[in-house]
Amino acid sequence: MCGVIGIYSKSNVATSLFYGMNSLQHRGQEATGMAIDNGEEILRKRAMGLVIDAYTEESLRELAGNIGIGHVRYSTAEGSHDYNIQPIMGFVGGETIAIANDGNLVNYQVLRERLEEEGMMFQTTNDTEVILYLITRYYDGDIVAAIKKTMKVIKGAYSVTALVKGKVVAFRDPNGFRPLVLGRDEDDVIVASENAAIEIIGGQMTRDIGAGEILVIDETGIHSDHFESEDTPKNCIFEYVYFARNDATLDDINAYTFRRRCGEILWEEAPCDVDLVVPVPDSGIPSAIGYAQAAKIPYGEGLVKNRYMGRTFIKPTQKERDMAVKLKLNPLGDVVKGKSIVLLDDSIVRGTTSRNLIHRLREAGAKEVHMRITSPPVKYSCYYGIDTPNRKHLIAANQSIKEIEENIGADSLAFISMDGLARAGKKSIDNYCIACFNGDYPVDPTVI
Ligand code: 5GP
Ligand code: MG
Repeated sequence: MCGVIGIYSKSNVATSLFYGMNSLQHRGQEATGMAIDNGEEILRKRAMGLVIDAYTEESLRELAGNIGIGHVRYSTAEGSHDYNIQPIMGFVGGETIAIANDGNLVNYQVLRERLEEEGMMFQTTNDTEVILYLITRYYDGDIVAAIKKTMKVIKGAYSVTALVKGKVVAFRDPNGFRPLVLGRDEDDVIVASENAAIEIIGGQMTRDIGAGEILVIDETGIHSDHFESEDTPKNCIFEYVYFARNDATLDDINAYTFRRRCGEILWEEAPCDVDLVVPVPDSGIPSAIGYAQAAKIPYGEGLVKNRYMGRTFIKPTQKERDMAVKLKLNPLGDVVKGKSIVLLDDSIVRGTTSRNLIHRLREAGAKEVHMRITSPPVKYSCYYGIDTPNRKHLIAANQSIKEIEENIGADSLAFISMDGLARAGKKSIDNYCIACFNGDYPVDPTVI
């Protein structure tokens, strides 16, 4: 997962990009970069780590120019190396193209091998470089034509922002897996992964960029073109379940409202007679509020979160993962002691978080700990950008709900139904990619 942004303005954009990228930080904390077109050349700064640490006032001043793109990176398979930090740049026919992407190509390996056989040498181990390479190969002055040719070849999930000769270009894959939105701030035009990035700099989101849409923003305005898209988009449902910020309204669904409704629906589907509804912060908060209100049971904070802990989701060993959960969340004995509680979280992946928390809430004096999850069991790996581990590590791929309940030590365990999720979003389930729950992959992940 990653976050992207692009701004077309009449004044310097580096500071706005910096603020916008800060508000996309939850989408990736490994590294960040921005590229600025000053009319003559493209300036770029990239660094490992958080946005707030990567730039100084001075470096933002040096990045003077009216058009720019930015990226925050969540490294997955390719590993976290500085050569993989985006935006990446390519030089063709005296022009420079810079590009930043959120997503994952399923045919990256195949395309890369083919290009290597043709004599191409790569500078990153990043699938974005394949996109850049193909665009530059097809580019003869018409960027939209080059992108359409590229989109014919690349398969999978991508939401891209790019700088091409005085233009900000943005395009989204034909399924619309990953989000991408368009907004304005007076004369400035902004594209970003989430609306918060637009709002934070004083602008307003105007609409989603559609599945398969290609946008070119230049001095003459905003130009929209379309690559053939699928009949029904397959927006990633996990954006609403977990990934996007609560204030994100993507493809007509607000993440907070969705999460809250998930809590209400879970109460209908799996009620439970307890003293207190407790969220696993932060992702379980809206659904716990929804559950508590629907159930008319008090809501209480039974866990304290350490907000300075970074990403803990994927650690190499089980011991480290357990330690990471401990560091991140600590039971609040005064609140849970002697009480029966229901714990709300967005997902169970390996089961580390739930097992660890239930055990420690009992140690802290909780009488009963029931678990309610606002996604169906995650049984299949994601190939479109969400960082799920290999299937063999997905607890729900290998155990029944009853077995998981026992394994994590819950008094009871229930997951929201697929129908419940659809109701939470008020859209037919056909509009989403739900491959992580049912293995029905909209784009074949095994292409060769
Ligand atoms: P588990 O501990 O079962 O392996 O993972 C479940 C926990 O990880 C949940 O609390 C959920 O909020 C969180 N989670 C789910 N997906 C992701 C992800 O893609 N990245 C990160 N950092 N956390 C995740
Ligand atoms: Mg969580």
